[in-house]
Amino acid sequence: MKQIDGAAVAQKVHQETRQRIEALAARGIQPGLAVVLVGDDPASRAYVRSKDKRAAELGFHSVKRELPATTSQEELLAVVRELNHDPAIHGILVQSPPPKQIDEAAIVRAIDPNKDVDGFHPVNVAKLALEDPTGFVPCTPLGCIRLLEEAGVSTAGANAVVVGRSMIVGKPMALLLMRRGKGGDATVTVAHSRSKNLAAITRQAEIVIAAVGRPHFLGAEHIGDGAVVIDVGINRIDDPTSPKGTRLVGDVDYDAVAERCAAITPVPGGVGPMTIAMLMANTVQACEQLTK
Ligand code: NDP
Repeated sequence: MKQIDGAAVAQKVHQETRQRIEALAARGIQPGLAVVLVGDDPASRAYVRSKDKRAAELGFHSVKRELPATTSQEELLAVVRELNHDPAIHGILVQSPPPKQIDEAAIVRAIDPNKDVDGFHPVNVAKLALEDPTGFVPCTPLGCIRLLEEAGVSTAGANAVVVGRSMIVGKPMALLLMRRGKGGDATVTVAHSRSKNLAAITRQAEIVIAAVGRPHFLGAEHIGDGAVVIDVGINRIDDPTSPKGTRLVGDVDYDAVAERCAAITPVPGGVGPMTIAMLMANTVQACEQLTK
C-alpha cells in the first residue's frame, strides 16, 4: 500500500505557482487574490486566514475583506462589484457558507467569471463540461486529479466511482475523470444517497473518490483489492484521547481498507492541502489570462 502524501504534492504545486508569479513579476505584474468573509464562523475564519497567509507567502497581493454577520445581500454585492472592477485583483472568492440572509447562488453569479477562482460560476461550470481550458475548475476535485497523476495512477480506461454529487466536489470530479486526455478518459460512475447497493458499485472500482461528508462511511466491504482511494471527507469526531477532545477523519475507514489498497490518501494530509494549492494555481491562471 502506498500512502499518497498530499502535503508534499501541494508543496510541488506551490513551487510551480511561485515560478509563475516570478514570470509575471518580470512583466511588472503582481497577481491579486481577494477573499471575502461574512460573519464570524470559526471554521470559515480559519480557512480564510490560511488562504490569506499562503497567498501572501507565495507573493500574491492578498486582500482579506471581513464583513459583519449582519451584512445585507446588497452590501455584499457591492463589495463583489468593487472587486470585479479592481485591476489589482485577479481572483475573488466569497467564503462559504455565508449567513442566512445571503443568497449564495446570486453572489456566485455576481463574481466576474474571469476572476471566479473557486470555479463555481455557471460560466465556469459550463466551461468544465465543454472542456474549455480557459475556465476555472473547483479546487478540491482539481487537486484530486493532480494527486492521482503524481501517484502515477493511470485514469485512462479505468473504472472510477465517485461517491457524492455536490457541485463543489462530486459533480466536477466526475466531469474531470471523464474528460478527454491526461487525468481523464476514465469510465465514471457517480453514486449518491439514492444509489442502491453502494458496496457492489464501489467494490468493482479501480479508483474510488469519497466525497460523502460522513465519518468512516466507506469500509472494508466497499473497497476492492488493489483499488486507489482518494478520501475527500473532512469530518470532526469526538476523541477523548486527543488534547482537543476531537480529531479529523475522512469518509473512508482508513485502518479497515488501507492494506488492501494500491494507494490511499490520509486525512488529514491528503486532499486538504491540495485544495489551497489549486486555489493559488487558479489565481495565477486568472492573472495570466487577464493580463496577456
Ligand atoms: P455535500 O453534503 O454537498 O454532498 C455529499 C454527497 O454525498 C451528496 O451528493 C450526497 O447524496 C452523498 N451522500 C450522502 N449520504 C450518502 C449515502 N448514504 N450514500 C451515498 N452517498 C451519500 O458535501 P461536499 O461534496 O461539499 O463535501 C463532501 C465531503 O468532503 C465533506 O466531508 C466535506 O467536509 C469534504 N470537503 C473537503 C474539502 C477539502 O478541501 N478536502 C473541500 C470540500 C469538501 P445526495 O446528493 O443524494 O444528497
